[in-house]
Amino acid sequence: MLTASDLARRDLRVVWHPCTQMKDHEWLPMVPIARGEGVWLHDYEGRRYLDAISSWWVNLFGHANPRINAAVTAQLGRLEHVIMAGFTHEPAVELAERLTAIAPPGLTRCFFADNGSSAIEVALKMSFHYWRNSGRGAKRRFVTLTNSYHGETLGALAVGHVELYREIYHPLLMDVIAVPSPDCYGREPGESEADYSRRMFAPMEETLARHADEVCAVIVEPLVQCAGNMRMYDPVYLALLREACDRHGVHLIADEIAVGFGRTGTMFACEQAYVAPDFLCLSKGLTGGYLPLSVVLTGERVYEAFYDEYANLRAFLHSHSYTGNPLACAAALATLRIFAEDDVLERNRSLAAHLGGRCRELEDLPHVAEVRQRGMIVAVELARDGNRLAPFPWQERRGLRVYRHALANEALLRPIGNVVYFMPPYVIEPDQVDRLVATARAGIEIATCD
Ligand SMILES: *Cc1c(COP(=O)(O)O)cnc(C)c1O
Repeated sequence: MLTASDLARRDLRVVWHPCTQMKDHEWLPMVPIARGEGVWLHDYEGRRYLDAISSWWVNLFGHANPRINAAVTAQLGRLEHVIMAGFTHEPAVELAERLTAIAPPGLTRCFFADNGSSAIEVALKMSFHYWRNSGRGAKRRFVTLTNSYHGETLGALAVGHVELYREIYHPLLMDVIAVPSPDCYGREPGESEADYSRRMFAPMEETLARHADEVCAVIVEPLVQCAGNMRMYDPVYLALLREACDRHGVHLIADEIAVGFGRTGTMFACEQAYVAPDFLCLSKGLTGGYLPLSVVLTGERVYEAFYDEYANLRAFLHSHSYTGNPLACAAALATLRIFAEDDVLERNRSLAAHLGGRCRELEDLPHVAEVRQRGMIVAVELARDGNRLAPFPWQERRGLRVYRHALANEALLRPIGNVVYFMPPYVIEPDQVDRLVATARAGIEIATCD
């Protein structure tokens, strides 16, 4: 019989894991998973783990969801994949129709890719290429926010700003303009998030005024900088940004790879600011966490700037082998059907209220500096004596202690630095939330007791 320790041993002989210092596994056990069901991941030895981070923010409706399983299985019997240049298939067409119907207004065209970073590359290249096709070749820079994350490929890494991932590769990266983030963790005592976000727009306005002639686009993660410690800001910033981008003739790229599909309470986070971006990047929850797929939505104006006689060489000659994969599109369609049939956003409102309420009880712990929430994302930031100005040094790896405590207590929590967060599948039950928060409380107590 296959045992977990056999599998872990074989794994460590041949697999190099993502985002991991492999030497840690000399003392940190690898966790082999045999199967998933709903919010649970099951190992080979009768242990289970509640997937409180949706397996890196991708899962929406649980593992082995019967409805998504059925859709993928049915598609598997018909067509597993076909080239998307010159050819098409029903799942891609229907998915593009559905996405353009639910996206913010004006986003009428879907360009498919196969992962989040690739979607970012597509949006950056399309924006640059649009300006070039429009006789504005001097526009070749991008504006980003500090603390932002847009993926790991070189273009996506360049427009990101989390030093841990970026610093080493800095010599390889294109030169971007970084503007201070409206991240509300930095607000003054007594200052509202809306006031702080509005105040933090001043450097963006200045940057656009000074650099508009050489800037293609501003790229942001609407409302929550997820990989950047789950830092949050007010929708007013997005409203101001949309207006300023229009005024200065600069595109707005919304990276909703993590926050799209209901995570922040609305289908897309941009809706909370009543704005539509020029490019909307989606992935992760797009397929309910089943298969890699991403899409960039844009509008007619951009599309038209590429639409020409072939000989004029204005086409967007970009592709990925698995672009618009039919199995992935079928999973995405099943996911969107669940949203419609189950009135998910409405159900999530009470679920998010319950999750937030329980998590706010953690504010009574001495080393919790803030509990913050946007919909189905709740983050608990740890700092010495709850003092925002006294973060625990990263070398102490206190989040890792929470991770280990959670694993020993049937939960998968994977803190980012000193931030313990919950981003569970939407099928989590209130009593499971209660257990999870109790586990996190004990984990935080252990992690901060010295
Ligand atoms: C995960 C993520 C990406 C990158 O997506 P991958 O599929 O991991 O390449 C980009 N932007 C944001 C906001 C993300 O959370």
